[in-house]
Amino acid sequence: MKVLVVNSGSSSIKYQVFEMPEAKVAAKGLLERIGENESKLKHTGNEKTKEITKAIKDHAEGMNLIFSMLLDSEYGVIKDISEITAVGHRIVHGGEAFTKSTLIDDSVIKEIENYTELSPLHNPANLVGINACKELLKNAKMVACFDTSFHQTMPEHAYMYALPYEYYKKYKVRRYGFHGTSHKYVYGEALKVLNKASANVIVCHLGNGASVCAIQQGKSIDTSMGLTPLEGLVMGTRSGDMDPAIVTYIMDKTGASTKEMNDILNKKSGLLGISEISNDMRNILVEEKNGNKQAKLALDMFCYRVKKYIGSYIAALGKVDAIVFTGGIGENDPHIRHRILDNMQAFGIEIDDEKNSSARNCAPFASSNAKIDLLVIATDEEKAIAIDTYELAK
Ligand code: ADP
Repeated sequence: MKVLVVNSGSSSIKYQVFEMPEAKVAAKGLLERIGENESKLKHTGNEKTKEITKAIKDHAEGMNLIFSMLLDSEYGVIKDISEITAVGHRIVHGGEAFTKSTLIDDSVIKEIENYTELSPLHNPANLVGINACKELLKNAKMVACFDTSFHQTMPEHAYMYALPYEYYKKYKVRRYGFHGTSHKYVYGEALKVLNKASANVIVCHLGNGASVCAIQQGKSIDTSMGLTPLEGLVMGTRSGDMDPAIVTYIMDKTGASTKEMNDILNKKSGLLGISEISNDMRNILVEEKNGNKQAKLALDMFCYRVKKYIGSYIAALGKVDAIVFTGGIGENDPHIRHRILDNMQAFGIEIDDEKNSSARNCAPFASSNAKIDLLVIATDEEKAIAIDTYELAK
């Protein structure tokens, strides 16, 4: 059975075709710059890669182009469109309505629309992706997999903000958390390495977007992102935690509008804002080595924030079996892992530097004296979506 996984952004569509139940990737690709004159598709199928540059006006046209590649005699992996029996859609915000992945019907679409205000960039794009697929694949089952649903197990005292209660009742203002598909998948893979049926795990998903999650026996009990993905860690371009009074202060000082302020916090802050060099960890590491003080500061802040969250989640969980690193930075950068975990022996955290320096997927890197296991696990959100989709659609 072939499952298509679609991650539809505001101007892009990422996709993968999985052969299920083996979860083997048959084809994958990325269409970027939808709506521009030079939209770009990079498609890999049949172990060959093809790049196409042409104007694609909207997501529906984009899905048409993607299907033409999937059906292509050279690069394609299907002979007829009906071979795609199910489509899994990544949906960013499922609010309080969805505690797990779900088959899409009209009521599900309405609920996703309801959370558009909380995710104005992502949810509309996700819906466009669903509609474009529905048009083309009349008989395929559609499944929604939410970034938020794994965190719906957080207790009230963790998800509420200490604001007037009416804002929760009227406007759904609370913490939702994101990266849930990744945290859940990585937890499952960690259990295999730990050889345990259940465990208390702290997952650090460190990519361009970054979040930490405290998982107690399979349930998310706290996570660093909040109402939106802006809260928590220092990210590529997002500020993460700060005194909320800063927002009105800067708006008063600069005359920035709410939209401009939103852009400053989401797109101009974080590693980019502090370093004034880049949002990309690799560039900042190079500049730090060259002696750039702001690059060093950005890295110090990034690592210190993750360390503080790990400490607070140890307190929240009481007992921790493992700390797991994932995402582009978490999986690939032993130096950052070391900098985050350094000097935490009091918590039973001790790194084996040799193991850390060569740790790849599923590799433990704690020293033999450590009380808490340390693991690198490669995340695979698309595979996790394919598995949920297959289970619901089969
Ligand atoms: P996204 O949140 O966009 O999915 P990724 O998980 O792909 O992001 O992570 C992107 C980040 O990972 C970038 O900051 C990049 O510099 C960093 N990264 C990727 N490879 C390495 C590496 N080998 N060493 C350090 N950082 C890396």
